[in-house]
Order: sequence, then structure tokens, then C-alpha cells
Amino acid sequence: MEPGNKATLFLVATPIGNLSEVSQRCLDVLRNVSVIACEDTRNSAKLLSHFDIHTRTITYHNFNERQSAKGILSLLEKGEDVALISDAGYPLISDPGYLLVNEVIEQGHKIVTVSGPNAALNALVASGLPTNHYLFYGFLNARSSQAKKELEALKSFPYTLIFYEAPHRIEKTLSLMTEVFGERKACLARELTKLHEEYHRGTLKELCLLHDLKGEMVLIVEGCSEEKETDTADLLKQVDLLVKEGLRAKDAAKKVGETYGVSGNRLYQNYLKEGRE
Ligand code: SAM
Repeated sequence: MEPGNKATLFLVATPIGNLSEVSQRCLDVLRNVSVIACEDTRNSAKLLSHFDIHTRTITYHNFNERQSAKGILSLLEKGEDVALISDAGYPLISDPGYLLVNEVIEQGHKIVTVSGPNAALNALVASGLPTNHYLFYGFLNARSSQAKKELEALKSFPYTLIFYEAPHRIEKTLSLMTEVFGERKACLARELTKLHEEYHRGTLKELCLLHDLKGEMVLIVEGCSEEKETDTADLLKQVDLLVKEGLRAKDAAKKVGETYGVSGNRLYQNYLKEGRE
């Protein structure tokens, strides 16, 4: 099926709503492997029966990861190819599979990815926000206090941010983001590839006015702009911390600049201007 004679774990991306986005390669792989490891076999049965695929399925989900990974490794050892799929999109992207991939790498088996749909990228490219650099964050912690801490840590990040969110939490998340990030452009992409696909573009504050949002959604948020004074202040605080740890101010500014994608030299100049050295 694939070049080489080693048993292979295929990481197969599946549609995120619209079944016609399935690729020929995805179908070929799912038809020809010995076993398909699914996040939820009942859910994947819809996809498999739609395409008349009768390959044996087993479960691989967050609650049986270790046990199931063992079973998959022993199949690979016997020379059987296995495909891993999740309910939608790429396995391992806010979905199970990380543990398995690491064990398969450790055991020296082959891993092949089969490309396909991904909600984060669909939303990003249509958002109208910069796409040259971005951070995929996935889901924030379900507890607001923890989510707030996560947002605080992202506050100075200069690139576009991508979040997954559940409909019952989206209003809370938008108001938390407004509180932590302030005025920023954002785009809420809903029901991607499906009949009711839609995009709400505006500022975070404007998106807070939306109510009763249903379905699956991705939230894209503008990164921190370098010019914002408060954010520069945050970065200078980080420079200061490194200086207190013993780094020279110039090196500390360079390091913080590299981390956040801003000019280290400019940070250093601002640091001097504040008379911190
Ligand atoms: N593995 C998937 C991927 O590659 O996109 C993501 C799985 S994650 C458990 C599910 C989340 O992805 C949803 O809560 C939503 O945030 C996002 N998502 C998945 N399908 C979507 C769709 N059709 N439209 C918008 N968001 C979607």
C-alpha cells in the first residue's frame, strides 16, 4: 500500500462536517489497513458506512489510551498497518493520539500522515487576521479562573491566536478575553464546511453582543500589537526579571524580544529610557 515494508501507523484526518471533503487517499488508507483506531467507533461508523468501508475498528480515546496503545503496538509488531482517526479533523489536534505517536516512534515503527480538513486552519484563512505567524492554542481551561491565567500569559503574544471553544462557554470566554486583551479584532467561525457555515468578524467587544451561538466554533483573535504601551510595559517587566536573575540588560531584552517576536534592540532602548539600568 505504501512504500517500504515496515508496518505503518497512519494518522488520518477526516472531514469536520462535510463528507465530500474526504480525500481519495484517506479512503484508500482506511480501506486497506488491518485496523482503524477510532476516538468513538459509533461516530466513525457513520463515515465508514457512508463510504462502504468495512475495516475492523477499535477504540482509542482519552480514557483507554495506555491500554489501547499497547494493543496497537502489538498489531504493528505483527506487521499489521493501523490507521488512527478522531471524530473530526486531525487526530492529536485537540484530540487523542499523542501518547500513541510517541510510543510508535520509540518502537521504531513508521508513521505516515494523511492530510485533510482542520477546523483551526479553515477559520484562520477566512478570518481576515494575519496568517504569516499564528499560535494554535486549542481549548482554554474549562474553569474561568484558570482560563484567565492562560489568557494573561498570552496577552503579549504578537501573533494571531486560534482557540477552539464549546457553544455553552463562548459568551463567557469572549467576555473574559475582552477583560484581559481589551480591544482587539477577532473572528468567530461557526459550523465550518457545513450548511450553516458563518463568520462573525469585529472586535472582541462587538462579538460579545452575539447570543445563543450554537454548533461548533473556532475563535481567531488578533495578536498583541507592538505599539500598545501596556504590553511594552509587560515585556519590560520580563526584561527586568531576567536582569535580576543576572543577565545583562541587552541580552535580556534580546531574549524577551526573540520570544515575543519584537525588536530586542527597541526593548533595550525603552528599558534604558525608563532609567532601569
Ligand atoms: N481534531 C479536530 C481538528 O483537527 O480540527 C478538532 C477536534 S476538537 C475535539 C473539536 C473542536 O474543534 C470543536 O469544539 C470546535 O471548536 C472545533 N471544530 C471542529 N469542527 C468544526 C467545524 N466544523 N466548525 C467549527 N469548529 C469546528
